[in-house]
Parts: sequence; structure tokens; C-alpha cells
Amino acid sequence: MRKETLKKFKRIFEGQRKQLLFAGAKVVREDFGVNSDDRFDEIDQASTDVDKEMRMRLCNREMLYLKKLESALKRIEDGLFGLCDECNEDIELRRLEARPTANLCVSCKEEQERKEGLTAAGRKHKSLGESFSRRTS
Ligand SMILES: [Zn+2]
Repeated sequence: MRKETLKKFKRIFEGQRKQLLFAGAKVVREDFGVNSDDRFDEIDQASTDVDKEMRMRLCNREMLYLKKLESALKRIEDGLFGLCDECNEDIELRRLEARPTANLCVSCKEEQERKEGLTAAGRKHKSLGESFSRRTS
């Protein structure tokens, strides 16, 4: 992959990562009630935990996406970005542009989705049964 292309993706990932963490940080600040000055020291001391805290505040879906962003950034650093996890071939650029965190090429992804489709159907069936039994008990 060309360097400029890599840089472009890196900017996308870093921007999105910042947005996600900022959204988490905002909630933390509101929680700490940063209106009175004398609480600032307390917050400074706690600031090492804030990063952890911020992550905890993200909902699962955001957390999952943050992890994807961070692994994509690491792949850029390692020079692995744009390579398929499964077959090690280049992932189509068009696919990356549509889905920058993709780590499988189209054919491997289709294969995975086919498998996941089977297990997801099984899971759905099971949870339906659970909610049904809960309602009746
Ligand atoms: Zn592949």
C-alpha cells in the first residue's frame, strides 16, 4: 500500500479514536462534578485512572470499535495494514475505503459471514427460547 494511502487511513483512525475517547471523557467529567474548584486536586490524583475510566464508560459497541481502531493503528505501525488476516493477500482498497477497519479480504469475509450466519442463527434460536421461558415462569 502506498504511504500516502496509509497516512490517510491513520488520520481517519486517530480522528475517530479521539472522538470516542472524548465522548467518554465528557461523561467522566460530568460525573466528577467539576464545578467546585477544590475538587480539582482530587481529579488530578485520579487522572491516571481517567483513561481506564473513560474506556469503561464507553458502551460495548463503542468499546469494540475503539479496539478495532487501535488494532488498525497498530497494524499500520507494524506494516500489516491492508493485509488479510486469513490469507495474507492485499485487501481491496475499495473495501478498505468503505470499511477502514476491515481485516479480512472480501472472499475471506464472505466465508466468515457464512459461518457466523450459521452460529448467529443458532444463538438467536436459543435466546428466543430463554426469553420465552422467562415470560412464562
Ligand atoms: Zn483473505
